[in-house]
Amino acid sequence: MPYSDLHRALAQTFLLQPTITAKEAKKIIASLEAAEAGPNHEGDLRPITDAIVSGYIADLNEELSKFDFEIRNMRDQKDRGTIYAFVNSTPDTLIQSATHHSADEIAFFRRLLDAMFETNNTRRAEVFAVREQEALHLNKNPPRAEGEATATGGLTIKGAEEALAAFVEEGWLVKSRNNWYSLAPRGLLELSVYLNQTYTDSDDEEDASDDDEEYHARKRIKKCHACSELLTVGQRCEKLSCDVRMHEPCAVSFFRINKDKKCPRCKTTWTGKESVGEAAAGKLRRHVQKRAAVPTRQKRREETVEEGEEEQEEEEQQQQRQQEAEEDDDE
Ligand SMILES: [Zn+2]
Ligand SMILES: [Zn+2]
Repeated sequence: MPYSDLHRALAQTFLLQPTITAKEAKKIIASLEAAEAGPNHEGDLRPITDAIVSGYIADLNEELSKFDFEIRNMRDQKDRGTIYAFVNSTPDTLIQSATHHSADEIAFFRRLLDAMFETNNTRRAEVFAVREQEALHLNKNPPRAEGEATATGGLTIKGAEEALAAFVEEGWLVKSRNNWYSLAPRGLLELSVYLNQTYTDSDDEEDASDDDEEYHARKRIKKCHACSELLTVGQRCEKLSCDVRMHEPCAVSFFRINKDKKCPRCKTTWTGKESVGEAAAGKLRRHVQKRAAVPTRQKRREETVEEGEEEQEEEEQQQQRQQEAEEDDDE
């Protein structure tokens, strides 16, 4: 289809909203086509199908690619509905596509990502989220080493609060009922390349084979086994060294067909009770207790992890011993 005023109006709509669902896109296109047809041609209007939406998006992307922009889509991790977002396709311009954040705010955003994808994403606890209190205390820029240009101090707590609110408003982050921040669809769509480049250990990439479970378990960015899209919330295999993850609705569909209810890779029984996301936060502290064994850079980051409730301690230690015993059996 030739690029028309209708395309321009549609691109404008995408630009102004953080994300648009497939259903909303159909409505918008229907009203744009109706406006173009004029008041006396309602009878000629066609129903807007998925294929028509995809056609328009393809037209827009051809034009937008000249300016390093793109409309990407993913399926919602919880309801699997299609979501579109207007993104900057150059991975090094972190969250700058349609926003005007200061360097300090962007640096704060990077630290939030580190908290979600490193500090709070351990082998046992893939939380991919950061609690509000923890987030606010990432407000300051770390001091530079001697001889380097002086870093600015960073944000005040109030500045961090405002930045967090803006990141939510703009669709980069979503805040849960329990005050955890995680990446929203727009953030996931725009940052997918950045996340893979930044948080996947590439040290031993050369000699890792596709079947090396250990290797996959150390890759910080997870994909759904069923749909292959990024996964930051869902279910995981019970076996700690196995890298199979699935979105909840994807797991439901998968095990409707695969009735044995076993992990497709390691054949461990799939209970659906091991979570990825905020629901896995209870497992973070146990990892902190073991931090003496982890390298310094990671250790420094993990010291910011919040301590849990005292009364849970004994029970958790017992669970940990049990889990470690099971883990030893695994490996
Ligand atoms: Zn999936
Ligand atoms: Zn498995």
